[in-house]
Order: sequence, then structure tokens, then C-alpha cells
Amino acid sequence: MSRNRFLAVLLLAVSLVCGPAAPPAGAWGASAHMMLTTAAVDRMQGPVGDFFRANRHFLICYSILPDSWWGSPELLGQLPKGLENPAGTNGPKELGRHHFAEDEEAYAESMPARSEARVVPLDRAQALEVFRKHVEKHGQEALDRFRRQNSWFKGGLAELPAAMLEKAGELPWVIDERVNDMAAAMRSGNWVRAMLLATVLAHYVGDAHVPLHTTVNYNAQFHPNPLLKGLHQRWEGRIIELRKAEFRKFLRELIRSARTPPAKMPSDPGALRTAVFEMIADTFSLTDDILRVDDELLAHAGALGASPQPSKDRPDSGAYTPEYFRKFYERLGPGIKGQLGRSVERITSLWGVAWERAGRPQPPTGNVETPPLVVIDFRNDRIVPYQPDRN
Ligand SMILES: [Zn+2]
Repeated sequence: MSRNRFLAVLLLAVSLVCGPAAPPAGAWGASAHMMLTTAAVDRMQGPVGDFFRANRHFLICYSILPDSWWGSPELLGQLPKGLENPAGTNGPKELGRHHFAEDEEAYAESMPARSEARVVPLDRAQALEVFRKHVEKHGQEALDRFRRQNSWFKGGLAELPAAMLEKAGELPWVIDERVNDMAAAMRSGNWVRAMLLATVLAHYVGDAHVPLHTTVNYNAQFHPNPLLKGLHQRWEGRIIELRKAEFRKFLRELIRSARTPPAKMPSDPGALRTAVFEMIADTFSLTDDILRVDDELLAHAGALGASPQPSKDRPDSGAYTPEYFRKFYERLGPGIKGQLGRSVERITSLWGVAWERAGRPQPPTGNVETPPLVVIDFRNDRIVPYQPDRN
């Protein structure tokens, strides 16, 4: 599927399920990102926790901003100043920054001895080298295949390794960069900037817990059962919308019953990179099960000849009936809750790493002045005021 088509599928999927002011979803849908940030703000300890709680709506509102960077690049100029993408990668270039394909062939090829079939921690230059070697080995064949799968790609062999790296995803390095610049903002006393980077970091860390963001088969598009296609959005978006109250209650209780501080992630840059790659590999290990369960749930619908695509006005039509979603929640809900809970722990832990690296500076007390709170209403191509979600 081409990158543009991937984008179109995601946008369509979201337009089917969200209200008019919904932003596009990139990994967890908008509701999940907001829920995660809310929970992480409540879970965060120490003075940074107090500061974040005093400014919670800024953090919640902008937890979905990174999806606007790729989903609505034409509207970004209308956003208040101070919300720019720190990497400057708006549009398609941002898309690959929200995932990492653990099962990408070039990685497997480069690491015959890797343990437990996991990608060993690499920096970006080492990853690029992996793709360079892959292109060297497969030459024209690699180029033809990549072009077939990515009609947007107009480059040749020289541009191929970088394009392949981008397509396979850059999530581990993006997390690294955001921890660093969040620390830098705290160190320089720019607390509004630190908050923006904190919620942006929370977004990417949340994405790293979505199993279909860690595989080349990101939309179940390679599964023999065509009804599975779209599983990505059903797992991270639709089911969260349908069972919002339950997921929210789960997170609230998790925070309330937490007796210990979040498990620490290492502050040392090398050790942290290893931990981030481990985190993504753990997420990836859940994919097979999710595909198997969805295949089981849809086997019956397939036999009845149900259509894979729901109709625009009825997202629960086609094979994806209310009964299907009831079973989906029953079978896959516990795993989704597990990933939401792990996300909250990792987000707060990484906020703590940034604060430690900054030298534990004292944040301001109470509410501070921030850019106005707005969200992108992408269906109507406009910016609208943020409304706290109270349902
Ligand atoms: Zn995303």
C-alpha cells in the first residue's frame, strides 16, 4: 500500500468514527492519547507532577499534536506560535516517525545472530548502514519492489536506503531526541516548551505500545483473510471509542491503586536506547496473537460473505457488527488495557529521565501562560477551540 493510501485509509477510518472536531489519528486514536496523557499527568510524582497537574489541559490538548504534523500539514500555519514540530518534518516525512517495523527484512538480514528475533539497538547511522547493505545486496530488485509498494517514491538506488529507513520507521530515535530536548528546555527554565515536549514525547511513547505500529504488516494488509484489514484502527481507535468509559475507569483505578513510583528507565543514553528497543520488541511480540484472535472473530463473518469495509455512515456495518466488537473487547480488551498501563508507566518514567538529565530544576508553581488551546478539525479544515472531553 502506498504511503498516501496508508494516510487515506487512516484518515477515512478516523472520519468514520470521530466527531467533527476530531484530529487525525496516527497510532492510538485521539481519545487514547488524551487518556494516556491524563493518566501520566496524574501518575507523575514530585514537583514536575505538581506542575503538570496545574497545567493539565495544555498537556492533554497537545498530546495529539504530532498526528496533525503529518495529517494536516496545510493547517499548521494557522496554529498558535510555539507549537512547531521540533524536527521540522511535517507531512509525509513525519509519518514514519510514529512507528518502527521490528520485522523489517533488512534488519533480519543484517542480524542472523540476534537474540530472540529482536532488532538489536542501533543508532540512526547504523540503521542507515543496514539499509545500504541491503540495497547493495539486492540492487535493482530492491528498488523495483520498493517502488511497487511505494508509488510516491521517485528516487533511484542512491536514495533508496534513506527512503527504506524512513518507511521502516524512526520511532526509537524520535523518543531519544524528545527526551533530550525536553531535558534541555527544563535546564534552560523554559517550562512551557518543556511541557509541549513532554506531551509530544508522551505521544510517541504511546505509539510505541501499539502492536500494529511495530510491524511491516501494520494494517494486517498481508493477512490471508482480507477482513482483517483495518485491524490497526479497530484496535487502537474504534474499540477505545466504543468502550471509552471502561478504558478510562481502568486507567483511573490503575493510578489510584499504584503503591510504588513508576519503574525507572535508565538515564544513561546507551542504556536508555537499549530499553527503548526492548520496549518496542515487547510490543511487537503481541502482534501474532492479535491477528490470530481477529481472524477467529471474523471467520464466521467471512463465511457469510460480509464485506470488509464498513459503510461511511455505519462504521459498525459490514463484518464489524456490534456483536463482533463485543467479542473483540472481551478477547482483546485485556491486552489493550495492558498496553495502556505500560504506556503510562513508560511516559512518566521518561519524563523523570528528562528531569534528572536537566539536573532536577524546580518548575514554576501553579498555572503558567501557554499558547491558546486548540485542536485541528481536519474534516472541516479548520482550527477549533479545545473542549475538555467530559464523557
Ligand atoms: Zn502518532
